[in-house]
Amino acid sequence: MYLLYTDASGTPQLSDVNSRHYVLVGLGMHEGTWFALNKRLNRLKGSYCETGRDFELHAAQFACSINEQNEDPNFGDLSWTDRRSAVTAIRVRKIAAETTPEGKRSRREKYKRTEPFIHLTRQERSRLLEDALHLVSGHTGIVLFGEAISKSHPGVTAATKDPVHQAFEQVLSRFDAFLKRKDDWKLGRAVNNGLLVLDHDYSTESAILNQFKNYRDSGHPWGKLEHVMDVPFFASSEKVCGLQLVDICAYAVRRYLDTGAKPGSHEERNFERIFHRFDRDAFGKLHGLRHYTPSGSCACLICQQRGHAIAVIPPAPVTTLPATAPPTSSH
Ligand SMILES: [Zn+2]
Repeated sequence: MYLLYTDASGTPQLSDVNSRHYVLVGLGMHEGTWFALNKRLNRLKGSYCETGRDFELHAAQFACSINEQNEDPNFGDLSWTDRRSAVTAIRVRKIAAETTPEGKRSRREKYKRTEPFIHLTRQERSRLLEDALHLVSGHTGIVLFGEAISKSHPGVTAATKDPVHQAFEQVLSRFDAFLKRKDDWKLGRAVNNGLLVLDHDYSTESAILNQFKNYRDSGHPWGKLEHVMDVPFFASSEKVCGLQLVDICAYAVRRYLDTGAKPGSHEERNFERIFHRFDRDAFGKLHGLRHYTPSGSCACLICQQRGHAIAVIPPAPVTTLPATAPPTSSH
């Protein structure tokens, strides 16, 4: 059996200008891969935290600025214990200086998110991200599926497409197509089925379950759902290694696209660490990742490989991609 862990990066709300893309990524692996991956992730996390502590690998919580670290110019020279004490002391002062209960509560909530990482410098936290991506990159057996939706795409701004619905549809159907392809190759041997494990997101859970039920009953836009079993299971990423790693992957894809897919950028290097893990067929053709943006408007590595980048198709007149495309189609 194959497991598919999925998580999103960015928000689907067009009004949220903090993310230009809504990205859903699925990390697929055979059940037999799980033990080694779990062990390697725990070893990686252990090298970034004090003995007896643990943390959830969640990019938004450590790939950010921790202002209190900047107040000591020698912060990087301190021990982990002293760094933690220094940041904690500053935070206690800031909470105490808040004049309203709401202000105090808000600060506590904000600090709680980054608390597991306050002993790591910004540079060390960047390295943690790189090491986690490297883990995905080098772990044989992992295959990725993703949909990156530009929130400025006319199909999205005209509200003809719901990003959450579209992304789940694309990732699920690509995973099903991957399982079908493996089934075809097996020439009559035992068939691999798939099971979905999704990160808890109460705002989208019921819609996703309804969508999945419709696919189970009536098929998805490109055919029957043949190999994905049961219903999607929702889990807390806190203890689930696949969900923590897919969070990192979705973040790397979104950051690459949100920052303009600049060649040679830090974001491109991070994206390239995992790009080869997205599903391709035996001829190397990319099926596992799409950048949903107007054709000919983008020169990112995804659009280049899918053959609809600026360099391949002249930028004018701008045409939109088909609203939906078969998971194994070329465009
Ligand atoms: Zn692109």
